[in-house]
Amino acid sequence: MFAFQTTPLNRHGEIRHTDDFINPLLELPNTYFLLVHQQSIVCVRSNTNSANSTVDHNWQPFWFQPQELQRLFNSFSKKHLIYLGEIDSKHYFTFRLKSSESLQRIAQLTPDTELELCNLRGLFKQLSSEQAHLCSVAVAMEHWHNTHQYCGFCGHETYSHQSGFVRNCSNQNCQKQHFPRTDSAVICAITYQDKILLGRQTSWPDKRYSVIAGFVEPGETLEQAVAREGYEETGLTLKHIEYYRSQPWPFPQSLMVGFTAEAVHPEIKLLDQELEEAHWFSRQELKAAVKADALVLPFKFSISRELINQWLMKI
Ligand SMILES: [Zn+2]
Repeated sequence: MFAFQTTPLNRHGEIRHTDDFINPLLELPNTYFLLVHQQSIVCVRSNTNSANSTVDHNWQPFWFQPQELQRLFNSFSKKHLIYLGEIDSKHYFTFRLKSSESLQRIAQLTPDTELELCNLRGLFKQLSSEQAHLCSVAVAMEHWHNTHQYCGFCGHETYSHQSGFVRNCSNQNCQKQHFPRTDSAVICAITYQDKILLGRQTSWPDKRYSVIAGFVEPGETLEQAVAREGYEETGLTLKHIEYYRSQPWPFPQSLMVGFTAEAVHPEIKLLDQELEEAHWFSRQELKAAVKADALVLPFKFSISRELINQWLMKI
């Protein structure tokens, strides 16, 4: 199972804007705060013994409790808080750190705990599905706040409102409200007979291959975006374009909408040069390439890996 499909995060969207709901939560022992700065999260080192008796040093998100946060920030302002939601009677918030230097101050106040700011992308593969979900919401929201400090209509400063889910313009003559945005992207497993198409971009890690993906353009349906991206990147004409599943992708703020499709013909032409190469793989060829370490698939939480795994299991 890939991330975001199992965790029932109750966002309480109908009441999270009210002080009557939020204020009591800020005192409860079952409330937890994740400290974030840009794409990074404050983590604690956790030592675990692996099967071969060596010790793995994994960084895991550190969830602060209310009294700890109050000790660190004597009078923390709610403008730095974003309510993420509730899971199993536990409430989760993000606290937005003003700068990475804040971590040094926190570290001084928590000398017995080894803390570090860890980039979510690097952290992702060692998180549980639930932690990955919470951290993704936190980082995507933090990114939105950072990039919407000023009103796009009049240029005045904006301020956080409604538990972090709205930014209001401070200009009394404007008063525009700004809401979190998500960029739609399509991702598609393209097959031809018993083969799947995998390609790679120059900027990707060595040997990494994946399925085709791209952003949806204004005025376009998702299916049209799949057909267009498939043609631009590989010169293929597609048929039987079918929705599979979707996945939030917080790098920085996308929603990946997964599809499967069949190519009408097998001739590949890299028309827009977005891919440096693309090839057809049979199941046997793909498994052999992975086993020989000649090819690396996307990591386990990604919908790209899920699409490839689903095709591998289909006989
Ligand atoms: Zn404005």
